[in-house]
Amino acid sequence: MDLPTYAIEAKGLIKTYKATKTTPAKTALNGVDLQIPRGSIFGLLGPNGAGKSTFINILAGLVRKTSGTVRIWDRDIDERPRDARACIGVVAQEIAADVFFTPRESMEVQAGMYGVPKAERHTLEILNALGLGDKADAYVRQLSGGMKRRLMVAKAMVHNPPILILDEPTAGVDVELRRQLWRYVVGLNQLGVTIVLTTHYLEEAQELCDTIAIVNRGEVVACEPTAQLLRRLDTRTVVITPTAPLSEVPALGRYAGVIRPGGELAVTFKTGESGVEAVLAAVREAGVAIKDLATEDPDLEDVFMSLTYSAGEEADPTRA
Ligand code: ADP
Ligand code: MG
Repeated sequence: MDLPTYAIEAKGLIKTYKATKTTPAKTALNGVDLQIPRGSIFGLLGPNGAGKSTFINILAGLVRKTSGTVRIWDRDIDERPRDARACIGVVAQEIAADVFFTPRESMEVQAGMYGVPKAERHTLEILNALGLGDKADAYVRQLSGGMKRRLMVAKAMVHNPPILILDEPTAGVDVELRRQLWRYVVGLNQLGVTIVLTTHYLEEAQELCDTIAIVNRGEVVACEPTAQLLRRLDTRTVVITPTAPLSEVPALGRYAGVIRPGGELAVTFKTGESGVEAVLAAVREAGVAIKDLATEDPDLEDVFMSLTYSAGEEADPTRA
């Protein structure tokens, strides 16, 4: 059997949520084309509301796409929905735990749902790998948030799918447990499992993923190997203290300045395209007398926002 080049392939994917009495119609995905290479740890990075969960939920069969095509492990989700879904394990964004079952029972129920024969189940092995072995028979309501999330990961793997999808996996997970979760995920990847995760933290995607797609307002605005993307995001900021505090941003030609609370002027530039000298020249040109200056390394979140929001638009206030 030939293995697919892409674990997941979406073409022209559109999702418009219908209007309700209280909310207008909303296009959450506006023509998404994505090819997720088999064997990768792929990050879907974007601010809240970008459409990440909508994409994942379409893969999981929880949301119906409006149009476009999706193939999972070379199986079209319209033509072979069951086959396609058998190839993914999905860990949803919201913590959902069945309070009536112990982790062991919960795993068994899940395995039953996927038709995994008893002899082929690895319940304890998976729970152990996720550090839940000693909680196998505990009541789920006795588990912490981080444990519940790891149980969700364990359940997603009962049928041994070639693709594991995690939607915002670190929400509610403390640092130590996050490390453990990543170790598990990286270990699976080394065994050949393709990993897809969504996050709104660049640092998280940067640390884990070999390929990153940035989504914003339902569109893919970048998709490339992590190192290449980071080079594109390589910026520095010059912070200028003027002799008199500024109240508005002077015109700086090709640069965009931001006034800091103390009346300082911050100007960010791409390291490959410009330099401190050129920025200072533009500032002097604008008639600003410079008293002092400093340079700063990029704040990744700022850089990320500058890439995902086109100039002049307000940042999404709902962004965490
Ligand atoms: P993300 O996961 O990137 O934060 P979502 O896919 O959850 O983004 O949401 C994308 C957009 O679609 C948002 O504007 C959100 O409000 C909207 N949306 C999500 N789910 C629904 C729904 N069930 N009904 C209507 N609108 C929705
Ligand atoms: Mg989401």
